[in-house]
Amino acid sequence: MEVWYSSTRNGKIRVRASEAILKGLSEDGGLFVPDRIPELEKSFQELAGMSYQETAYEVMKLYLTDFTKEELEGCIASAYDSKFDTEEIAPLVQADGAYFLELFHGSTIAFKDMALSILPHLMITSAKKNKVKNEIVILTATSGDTGKAALAGFAGVEGTKIIVFYPKNGVSPIQERQMVTQKEENTYVVGIRGNFDDAQTGVKKIFADKELEKRMDEKGYQFSSANSINIGRLVPQIVYYVYAYARLLKKGGIREGDKINVVVPTGNFGNILAAFYAKNMGVPIGRLICASNENKVLYDFFHTGEYDRNREFVLTSSPSMDILISSNLERLIYRIAGNDPEKTADFMKALTGEGRYGITREMREQLGDFYGGYASEEETAETIRILQEKAGYIVDPHTAVAACVYRKYVEETGDHTLSVIASTASPFKFTRSVMNAVAGGADSTDTNAADVGKYDAMTDFELADELASLSGKPMPGAVREIRTAPVVHDRVCGKDEMRRTVEEFLGL
Ligand SMILES: *Cc1c(COP(=O)(O)O)cnc(C)c1O
Repeated sequence: MEVWYSSTRNGKIRVRASEAILKGLSEDGGLFVPDRIPELEKSFQELAGMSYQETAYEVMKLYLTDFTKEELEGCIASAYDSKFDTEEIAPLVQADGAYFLELFHGSTIAFKDMALSILPHLMITSAKKNKVKNEIVILTATSGDTGKAALAGFAGVEGTKIIVFYPKNGVSPIQERQMVTQKEENTYVVGIRGNFDDAQTGVKKIFADKELEKRMDEKGYQFSSANSINIGRLVPQIVYYVYAYARLLKKGGIREGDKINVVVPTGNFGNILAAFYAKNMGVPIGRLICASNENKVLYDFFHTGEYDRNREFVLTSSPSMDILISSNLERLIYRIAGNDPEKTADFMKALTGEGRYGITREMREQLGDFYGGYASEEETAETIRILQEKAGYIVDPHTAVAACVYRKYVEETGDHTLSVIASTASPFKFTRSVMNAVAGGADSTDTNAADVGKYDAMTDFELADELASLSGKPMPGAVREIRTAPVVHDRVCGKDEMRRTVEEFLGL
């Protein structure tokens, strides 16, 4: 049965999956949502015998119903290949009483690879299906991680180009190196003299420029976005929750039908929304534990029913979760509002206007499966240290936020249901925070004074060596390579020159 997509803000819109992927966002500013959440067709016994790629097909075919079997299998095979450093793609590792679902084995060692390695293939397939003749130009502003994951995903994919703008002095040295060493002809990376907001505003302006759109079309180009609200990024994320459950069954950690809890370090609410969809497809998930850092808008939302972005923005050691507007929450709001686009549009209008909205009691009652928690910076560092001491397992700060919230959840509720913690980045991506935490950072109580500040004089790469010897794990290829790779992108422009730079790249 075909699944159609409508907008969270306009019920009259009805498009197929491939059109939703090409568009990204609906014209009314709403997000595309499936008209129903399909049920899994295979039993978990059957799924337990499948590879990641086979599981991906079983899940994604239920949502992308206008893709043929060959098309979808082709996309999956191109995405989940040797770019990942393990055949399991998303391995489960048991440590300190929980299972860590490692989502960082792709080319940029962070979980965004799970979706961004397949999105380019879904997009060019969608373009072909919809008789789009133009080449797709992906335009992205990044504060670091997404830019690299998108570059790696689109690099060398025929029929696409990707242009990434980042704040020249606003990303970490490793993040910058990752981007400026990106190979392949179809990639363009530009530092701008300005901050992330300037980059984002500039990109939005270029997207909205009708005159430019017309000239692009004449030259055979059109823009698209690799934004995290694209349904082509959400659907691939549902897969690993189905896979994790099937794997646990295979390993004998659970029996069929047993419930598990999932814990997700959350920023834009994409990853945990995928877990929510998996639950509604029939994966026996009990609680969905939403972990925030000190930017705890979502914690407050789950505790009070009020979403309020009017607060100070905190820079933390888990930067990919430093977000005050969790865009994907709109899809959950739509659902608990009874799939009502008018109500959803009103809430989102209030969010844009006053920066806040409160949901009704009836809506709150439907959030019982969610639990919101948060971890302070001190707690996050302490969690990294304790996990290393107790279990010899080293996690990155994002994953540590989740592990900390999980511990608090068990203490508060006494619920010992087997839990899967989404592990969203390799510790090698955040060597400085991780090594400082392990050494007993400045804020922990039993600090060994000699260790404090001992890493200040080392570069991030030297710290990666330290981490490799401490963890006994080899340094991931992604870090090793960029250390010596030549810089191929050295372009810098003013924030008012972004459009001209794009025109130049495309020969307009
Ligand atoms: C993007 C990101 C997150 C947050 O995921 P959302 O889907 O935005 O909630 C968490 N951890 C890492 C490492 C990320 O890159």
